[in-house]
Amino acid sequence: MPAPDRALFRAIYQELVEINTTDSVGDNTEAARAMAARLKAGGFSESELQLLVPADGPKKGNLVVRLKGTELRKPMLLIAHLDVVEAKRSDWERDPFKLVEEGGYFYARGSIDDKAMAAIFVANLIRYKQAGYKPERDIILALTSDEELGAGSKWNGANWLVTNHRALIDAEFALNEGGGGELKDGKPLLNRVQAAEKVSVSFRLEAKNPGGHSSVPRADNAIYELAEALVKFWKFQFPVRLSEITHGYFTRSAELQSGQVAADMRALAQATPDPQAAARLSASSALHNSLMRTTCVATRLEGGHALNALSQSATAMVNCRMLSGSSPDEVQQSIVNALGNPAITVTRLRQPIASPPSPLRADVFGPIEKLTAEFWPGVPVVPAMSTGATDSLFLRNAGIPCYGVSGLFIDPADYRAHGLNERIPVKSLYDGQEFLYRLVREMAGGG
Ligand SMILES: [Zn+2]
Repeated sequence: MPAPDRALFRAIYQELVEINTTDSVGDNTEAARAMAARLKAGGFSESELQLLVPADGPKKGNLVVRLKGTELRKPMLLIAHLDVVEAKRSDWERDPFKLVEEGGYFYARGSIDDKAMAAIFVANLIRYKQAGYKPERDIILALTSDEELGAGSKWNGANWLVTNHRALIDAEFALNEGGGGELKDGKPLLNRVQAAEKVSVSFRLEAKNPGGHSSVPRADNAIYELAEALVKFWKFQFPVRLSEITHGYFTRSAELQSGQVAADMRALAQATPDPQAAARLSASSALHNSLMRTTCVATRLEGGHALNALSQSATAMVNCRMLSGSSPDEVQQSIVNALGNPAITVTRLRQPIASPPSPLRADVFGPIEKLTAEFWPGVPVVPAMSTGATDSLFLRNAGIPCYGVSGLFIDPADYRAHGLNERIPVKSLYDGQEFLYRLVREMAGGG
């Protein structure tokens, strides 16, 4: 990368992480404005930039930018969120809202999540513009608010843009966070491309009882009945079901493993998964377990109203992460069956938002495979499903396939997004910028 391009990128990255965009005291609109100013200084015109601020959410602004192409193909969308998770200065070793370069790392809140990709996209669009690049399709960039609050925020920018300004961001497919490279002992191990996410749905379980004085306990009891049912539920597991994506994940991951784990991953990926292999993999890794099946887990428990009274009600909250293709009705029925007590009521809390997996299309994976081989020879591209959710949820739900790909390599043991002293290796950041620069060009065609 030419030195002036790198210096500009670093300046954009620094400016972005130093604008506080937490929900409590931060301002996403300020960050969107700063990036609009950078793009304008880089050659974008007023008409190519849209600053979109919800009328009732002045700090929840979004920026949409369009690099015009020759329209031979449908546009592609790049999306990154501006907001960050809270960070308390007194808990951190350094000021979370100052970019600190130290010992080969950049430290700051958002240094990975998600201001790395946001700044990379802004800097790269400026590079395309200044090079006079004419893609075969429009390249749209959306920088958005409130990803970290997800569906819990009415100002979630991805959801808000899809609902209110669909035409501005409509695309054949989108690139987002959610993927990324893995380092092992400082060396690139694999390049993960996220093509699916599990879907969250929660239930309330309740046992009821007429209650009474605790000095004369009745035979039936809401707390004991709920507890007994929960213990049965604890032992219950949903069946193993692999998709195109998790099948690819286990097949590719087997190449990076050895011994029993490698053999089990291959046995799991057979047409009929080997149940013993599945049991060993799920017992040894909570992550592998949640990749191969729908999971549900009790997360809250409540009961009783006084120390000297029999409980009239005992409730538990259960959060499930469904594989796509499962229906919430099916999951609810499985919970009812597993509890083994029809007197316990099971109520769904909120209608889940569907998130269909995105197809492993050649025009997306081809360029990723090609450039991964060039940047990191021998490193496999591994399709992946996230157990949590990103903004890709809203886009996939609206029919825009999404791919989490960044080329940012991080050691999973050192993954500090949302945590203390968030950091990214300096080399990973610059390599990721160059990878995405080439990747987007490759996908957008033209010259
Ligand atoms: Zn994020």
